[in-house]
Amino acid sequence: MKTSAKAIIQNWIYLLIIMIVGFFGVGLYILISGSKLTSEASQSFYEYNLQEKKMQLQTEILNRLDEIEYERNKLLSNEEKVLYNKVLDVYNLLANSEVGLTTDLELKREMAISVFDNIVKDDEDYLYFAIDTEGVLIRSGADAKYEGVNLYDNQDVEGNYYVRKIVSAKELDDGLYVDYYWPKVEDGEPIKKTSYCLYLPEFDLIIGTGIYHDDLQERLKDRIYNRLQVYYEDKENYVFVTEYDSTARVSVSSDFIGRKMSEFVSFDGKSIHNLFMKVIKEKGYGFQTYSYNKKNETILSEKISYVHDLEGWDAYIGMGFHVDDLNEEVNNYTVLFKEHYYNQALFVIIGLMLIAIIVFAIYQRGAYLQKLFLKQGDIIFENLFYLSNEAIVVVSKRGKLLYENNVAKELFNNQVSNYIESDGLKLPAADDSTYILRTEANRVYYITLREEVAAFKNTESSIYFINDITMQYKKSHVFEQMALNDELTGLLNRRALKENYEDYCYELKENENLVLGMLDIDKFKNINDTHGHAIGDEVLKLLGATFLERLRFRDSFYRYGGEEFIILLRNITLQQSKELLETLNKIFCERIESELGFACTFSCGLTFVDYNGKSEVLGNIIEKADNLMYKAKENGRNRIEI
Ligand code: GH3
Ligand code: MG
Ligand code: MG
Repeated sequence: MKTSAKAIIQNWIYLLIIMIVGFFGVGLYILISGSKLTSEASQSFYEYNLQEKKMQLQTEILNRLDEIEYERNKLLSNEEKVLYNKVLDVYNLLANSEVGLTTDLELKREMAISVFDNIVKDDEDYLYFAIDTEGVLIRSGADAKYEGVNLYDNQDVEGNYYVRKIVSAKELDDGLYVDYYWPKVEDGEPIKKTSYCLYLPEFDLIIGTGIYHDDLQERLKDRIYNRLQVYYEDKENYVFVTEYDSTARVSVSSDFIGRKMSEFVSFDGKSIHNLFMKVIKEKGYGFQTYSYNKKNETILSEKISYVHDLEGWDAYIGMGFHVDDLNEEVNNYTVLFKEHYYNQALFVIIGLMLIAIIVFAIYQRGAYLQKLFLKQGDIIFENLFYLSNEAIVVVSKRGKLLYENNVAKELFNNQVSNYIESDGLKLPAADDSTYILRTEANRVYYITLREEVAAFKNTESSIYFINDITMQYKKSHVFEQMALNDELTGLLNRRALKENYEDYCYELKENENLVLGMLDIDKFKNINDTHGHAIGDEVLKLLGATFLERLRFRDSFYRYGGEEFIILLRNITLQQSKELLETLNKIFCERIESELGFACTFSCGLTFVDYNGKSEVLGNIIEKADNLMYKAKENGRNRIEI
């Protein structure tokens, strides 16, 4: 990352652009997914709410039914208490009347009956009766027809011997309640009633009074219907009770009570009452969807009601809600959900942007510091490199010369670039740890090379530490040199000849040939004797130098011993080699003449090496050449024999 002031501003602008694009991109995504999510949420909320509303309806109605049941039981037990008190009152009045003055049971009972008649006359709501312990009905408030008749074996419509049960009150101090069927009016249908019966031992009589259940139910109905009407009168969701014949008993407004509900029709023209009756007949309870107007409105809208049969009352109770009320709630919820969702999304986006800014700032700062560190590193490097004894060259990963210290400039003669390839500094190896540096001036250095990879001038680079070890290297190789070179002339020696001869034969190709020559200086003894041994040595050296200067690359020249030399020539005919040696002899002679002031020549025998696939033994060839050389001596010296 670039860290100049301009680059930093540029980077911030890039970040800003990325963030703006990102903001709108993510915003668009959120918008799209938000509307999808919202519609899903509103759908599921609608379904949830619908279920919830239905549950509420059902619960409300079931609660009302529980209350009704509770009221029913309470009313009955209250009524039973009333019956008990009424009978007890009658008993007390009888006991406190004059009837108690006589002891004649028959008379006493007659007087008691007449008192009884007087008492019950004023309380016509309750139908008192008196019965003797044999089962003979003495008085009956409901049906005088049976007075004087023994009903002991009578059964009611359900087959109960109810009179026997009444008579059994004789055994009980507290009396008992008996349920049975008895007509309300003379010759009327028997109707279920509950009577309280108490035995009066002084008169040997059982008296009782009862209440007809239908009267009780009517009172209960009136009370409950009235209470429901009053309770729900001013509420939007009201309870309604309709009888099977469609008469409204509890309704939206008290004006409706008593009206026939069959006149109200749903949107598909069906009578709402019939729709409810269908549910009641099928299962006794359930939901029904239809259309109805809201309270204080005339427009019909979809409504769902739960209806439940009111057992024994030939009526059903129900309650409903308008579906669009639910929609309103769902819409409110959806708006809230949407707001919440977008707020959250915005919050997250802004949070992410802040994090991006912070991360970016930290990164920028890091990059800036990193650059400083690198620069610091470069300064330290260059200063240390400057002071170093080693030659130091820094090459970038791409093969660009980044730095060379003065030692390196000197060593490479300012030409280090010539040795750099795309993958670094490249030098031929002398051995495992030594490289050869051959300068343009053909000077050879032996060097060591150590490479370290590091950051330099902001780039990954190779730093080469180079040491000139030419002196050490040569020293360590001097024995090797001595072993193969002649000390005096520096020429290769007899041992080297042996090694090279093998290599030559090995390397020779089919159409190549090799010539071996044996040289011997003429009358060398005389030179030694005349000019001294040192001059003799000088002659040997000059001969070596003359040959080395003129030999071709793959030819070689050896000091075989004393003043005898051997020459190996490749790819040359015998005739050509003879001419070459004659020329060399002449040059040598002239050189000695000019440098030392006397004449000196050599004689030479040249022979063709017949390698023919396998090398001839070196000794044999030398012998052949030696013989030819002696032939030259015999033929007057200073000549070449082939
Ligand atoms: P010819 O022409 O028959 O070869 O005569 P010549 O004198 O060269 O005879 P010869 O080959 O027998 O003599 C060799 C002499 O070379 C003997 C020896 O003193 C001399 N010599 C051998 N090695 C050296 C050397 O290293 N230095 C010097 N100065 N003389 C050497
Ligand atoms: Mg000799
Ligand atoms: Mg000689």
